[in-house]
Amino acid sequence: MNTAAIITKTAEQADNTAELMAEKPSLIGASLPELTDLMATMGLERFRAKQLWGWLYNKGVTDFSAMHTINKPTQQLLAQHVSIARAGVSKNAVSFDNTRKWLVKFADGREVETVYIPDAPRGTLCISSQVGCTLACTFCHTGTQNLVRNLTASEIITQVLMAKDDLHDWGSTSSAEATKTRSADRASPERRAGQDRMSSAEATKKLTNIVFMGMGEPLFNFEHVVRACNLLTDPDGLAFSKRKVTVSTSGVVPKIRELGERTGVNLAVSLHAVRDDLRNEIVPINRKYPIAELLDACRDYVKIVPSRRIMFEYVMLDGVNDSVEDARALVKLLKGIPSKVNLIPFNPWPGSPYTCSSNNRIHAFGRELIAAGIASPIRKTRGQDIMAACGQLKSASERKKGEKVKRV
Ligand code: SAH
Ligand code: SF4
Repeated sequence: MNTAAIITKTAEQADNTAELMAEKPSLIGASLPELTDLMATMGLERFRAKQLWGWLYNKGVTDFSAMHTINKPTQQLLAQHVSIARAGVSKNAVSFDNTRKWLVKFADGREVETVYIPDAPRGTLCISSQVGCTLACTFCHTGTQNLVRNLTASEIITQVLMAKDDLHDWGSTSSAEATKTRSADRASPERRAGQDRMSSAEATKKLTNIVFMGMGEPLFNFEHVVRACNLLTDPDGLAFSKRKVTVSTSGVVPKIRELGERTGVNLAVSLHAVRDDLRNEIVPINRKYPIAELLDACRDYVKIVPSRRIMFEYVMLDGVNDSVEDARALVKLLKGIPSKVNLIPFNPWPGSPYTCSSNNRIHAFGRELIAAGIASPIRKTRGQDIMAACGQLKSASERKKGEKVKRV
């Protein structure tokens, strides 16, 4: 039976070393039509796929024998050929502010970091899309690590499942909630605002938001990130509203519009500088895709995914990008783009070449934006004692000599 062929379809464009090293192909990360095909290949009824889907993504079971709506022989057949196991956790740290960080280890021994930030009534999971990063933004710890490989959709989704396991956050997704997610994504802005204030079912959820702001550049692992976004927002599965899933990019312009068309999730853009000469230096991808092109793609994004604001991220580097003149230039640049600017205090890491702007400078910068009507919250620094804050993530995984990385 060729179960592997069907499941590895989900990883066809990735460097799938981890899959090859895993004993059995994983069901996590397959789409519902793929699971349905798989059932047919295994000689099982097609409706079993829907059942499996519910057990995997609504109940979070990790063992086929716990799926009591599926008879024993079928459970055994599945267990023989496919896997629903999670990845391993090499380290699990909890900060004094209750931020949690997991060092997640995949079948090939590669590791990434995943961070949970509770901020009642929200709980945000910051997930990784690559082991390391090919880009080398000068203020980012991940950028000092050689890219080792892309994660598969399965490995991206596994981070979410593992976090839900550890947080005991299963069981709150019902079909009523799925219906609500569907209508929230379609509703008018006013109605949606009300729905975003949270239903009672959602208020008990520990994990409400997902951000692709961990290790890696998500748009350089495009197919797997798109697949993962669509699994996260499937109303009959994990059922996150599209408004609560955010993909952050350093500016991979050619993929931005397609992300909107194929997922409808929120877009965050790591801008960090208002002039090309400075951005070329601190966010080197700018040499390929300069600010004007990046902002054009953002203008198109809000047409493709209407009634959303783009979240611009701006790391506050003392004396580098944090003057009042910079803030005024930012206001001009963002004219006509529905935006929110997140001011991120720079988080240091061993050997980092910058210091964080003073509170006074950050507030003075923010005031210029607010005066122009642009929301500009200052991001709280969380989990710094466990090196879990923005830009502090780095795993010990390194590329082996001569090892090639397949770009998607
Ligand atoms: N590669 C993607 C997503 C991961 S980085 C991107 O660059 O958008 C997530 C966010 O953390 C980005 O806005 C990034 O610029 C920011 N960041 C990186 N290093 C940081 C640091 N040392 N302090 C504060 N923010 C940082
Ligand atoms: Fe990569 Fe983002 Fe870090 Fe830049 S900021 S090095 S793109 S992870």
